[in-house]
Amino acid sequence: MTTLLEFSVQTGGQTDWINITNHVQKIVASSGVSEGICVVFIPHTTAAVTINENADPDVPRDVNFALNIISPDRREFHHSEGNSAAHTKTSLVGPSLTIIVTGGRLLLGTWQGIWFNEYDGPRTRKVQVRVMGE
Ligand code: ZN
Repeated sequence: MTTLLEFSVQTGGQTDWINITNHVQKIVASSGVSEGICVVFIPHTTAAVTINENADPDVPRDVNFALNIISPDRREFHHSEGNSAAHTKTSLVGPSLTIIVTGGRLLLGTWQGIWFNEYDGPRTRKVQVRVMGE
């Protein structure tokens, strides 16, 4: 059994984390897959997806603080669009996740949530979800 669905997220600022855990979980539940895997893919070059703590809002803030230290805007960048810091963060964080599905649910740790990461917003972005299994 396999299901592919896409949904949109509206990001609010240049750097924005949006918790998409419930949206992905609903797709898994409606897929009919009980045991399998879920792939979450972000088809953008200045946005990413990650799993991290979903309880303390200081965690996304602190991770963004760290990413801005790792990849600040630099005058040495050549890319004419002027958003190479965002492209770099996207490569560091990555475009996809693979999550185990069991009992018709995402197998996430107690404190884990799925976060869409915007680095060049505000924008309307896509999230693609493939659920495979039986
Ligand atoms: Zn660019």
